[in-house]
Amino acid sequence: MKDNKFKNEEFLSIDDSIDNMSIIFIGKINAFRRHIGKPMRILFNGATKGDHKSLYHPRGRALDFTCDTNDYAVIALAIKYGLNGIGMYTNHDGYRSWHLDDRPNITIWEGTKKNENDKWTYKTILGGLNG
Ligand SMILES: [Zn+2]
Repeated sequence: MKDNKFKNEEFLSIDDSIDNMSIIFIGKINAFRRHIGKPMRILFNGATKGDHKSLYHPRGRALDFTCDTNDYAVIALAIKYGLNGIGMYTNHDGYRSWHLDDRPNITIWEGTKKNENDKWTYKTILGGLNG
């Protein structure tokens, strides 16, 4: 399908790539992207690289991104397309970003940062530990 590939401008880092990610996960992400109709801007080290708490990143089954749409749309469509691991992040200046993965059970958490150099503080909204 023509729009199956991420456009270059959807990557904030040219060093990262979705080429070595799970094709099943990318299929779910593409269904989500088509429905939401907005670019997903993948964060620096938001795919398989970087230091992640979630084991789904090195497995190629998670993405961290921003998307200029409302929070309810992201959460509802993530669940619709089987992206059951949903992390909603708000950094020190109110900037919203997301983690999605395709773990088997719906798990939703919040991550917040009061100051730029703080570590993320996590709060579980639904399900078990943020993986
Ligand atoms: Zn993540």
